[in-house]
Amino acid sequence: MSARTVKADKGGQRAVESGSGAGGRPAAKRRVPRRESLKARRERVVEIVRRLRDEYPDSRCSLDHRNPYELLVATILSAQCTDERVNQVTPALFRRYPGPHDLAGARQEELEQIIKSTGFFRNKAKSLLGMAGGVVDRHDGGVPDTMEALVELNGVGRKTANVVLGNAFGKAEGVVVDTHVTRLSGRLGLTREKDAVKIEQDLMKVVPREEWTHLPHLFIDHGRAVCRAPTPRCERCVLSDICPSSRV
Ligand code: SF4
Repeated sequence: MSARTVKADKGGQRAVESGSGAGGRPAAKRRVPRRESLKARRERVVEIVRRLRDEYPDSRCSLDHRNPYELLVATILSAQCTDERVNQVTPALFRRYPGPHDLAGARQEELEQIIKSTGFFRNKAKSLLGMAGGVVDRHDGGVPDTMEALVELNGVGRKTANVVLGNAFGKAEGVVVDTHVTRLSGRLGLTREKDAVKIEQDLMKVVPREEWTHLPHLFIDHGRAVCRAPTPRCERCVLSDICPSSRV
């Protein structure tokens, strides 16, 4: 990995340059000041994204989908469930219900059987039926592409809407905040909030808009591989010199 440079903030409180250490890891520790300016934080985020893009060049939405309808369904199913499990269930689901009209007319018991292994299947089946009904009744069978319309659908909150808008429509309206994004944003000193909506607001202030959709994928990959809960593996983290929570 090549040498890296991060500009110091005004007070010059932060060391600004480091080369690469053994194994491509940063050689020198840089400290993030206790009171970091917004400008310095934005610059640090750009560096965080750059390094994580290097680490996870194939990072992307891990829910299999071919269109906005499929991603909306998969995201609703992913609550309290792994993406791998959802991806095992959705092929059969989409064969049986290829579009919103088909899903809106589904029998709840049959739908529950298909999605049972994703957990909370009764509530999820109700959400899917309500969502599909809303898409058919209010949007002529087409998944809407605005935040306002999406969050009006049954079972769709801001997080699900952000997933669909960013990954199926290419519209960056916000930042997806899940458990990994929450944990990494806190450890990296990008927010002190615990509430997802407030965390998202903090991230939108410091993350460049063109990265709003991709950043969560990077944080999820890094959260699974290195910055794990409950114990982060800081000794092998490419962000250890620009992370205020680093243990090395
Ligand atoms: S240095 Fe440690 S706490 Fe910070 S991002 Fe890396 S693994 Fe997480």
